[in-house]
Amino acid sequence: MQGLADVLRRLLHIVLPVECAGCGVALSNDPVPFFCRSCWADISPIDGPVCRRCGRPFASPVALTFSPDHSCGSCRKNHPAYTSAWSLYPYTPPLRDALCLFKYRGKVALAEALGRLWRTSALPQQLDLLMPVPIHPSRLREREFNQSLLLADQLNRRLQIPLSFDNLVRLRFTVPQTELTRSARLKNLRRAFAVRRPDEVREKRILLIDDVFTTGTTVNECAQTLRKAGAADVYVYTLARTLE
Ligand SMILES: [Zn+2]
Ligand SMILES: [Zn+2]
Repeated sequence: MQGLADVLRRLLHIVLPVECAGCGVALSNDPVPFFCRSCWADISPIDGPVCRRCGRPFASPVALTFSPDHSCGSCRKNHPAYTSAWSLYPYTPPLRDALCLFKYRGKVALAEALGRLWRTSALPQQLDLLMPVPIHPSRLREREFNQSLLLADQLNRRLQIPLSFDNLVRLRFTVPQTELTRSARLKNLRRAFAVRRPDEVREKRILLIDDVFTTGTTVNECAQTLRKAGAADVYVYTLARTLE
């Protein structure tokens, strides 16, 4: 079946040239849809030591030498509501360009290629529920899809656990977090999320999915809402992370 899909895709590329989502070069018979070989090879995971709590990369590997569970200054100061957070790749080109095309330019066909970037090896063994970070209904109307749900769906092709996409909801339309200071971000998101059916999250170990971890305020607010509704653990998993 995969062979046939490849042939069809190549035929489609002849009729309708497709460009690489990373660098814009015209694609011919590259193995991953929407990526040239070179851009695909450039997407490499974050390596080196990270904070066990929020996934922030440490400047020096020494940070974990004497205390493997060492958390970063920011996590010690403001304990996150989630149990732990991981990000797979730095939010840098070509992945950043591809994610922007996917999210802001409506190139939903990229979901499958981006989904190939998920890894399941580092995830907790016991997970009950997968949840994407929700977007506000008016943004959903404008964008027509929730990028986090499409990515969660791709990941779930491997995890195969219940995927819940309409229980955690976004109540308020908020200005982009990146434009705000920390205290303004917290205020901006306060009571922005709600759980419609708390019974479904009670005592559950939840994996919360988003495309990019930027300041962590959004996922933390979601985690707090889920914990208040009775969730046992909330783990945060994002494809990319902005690096300082
Ligand atoms: Zn490329
Ligand atoms: Zn941390």
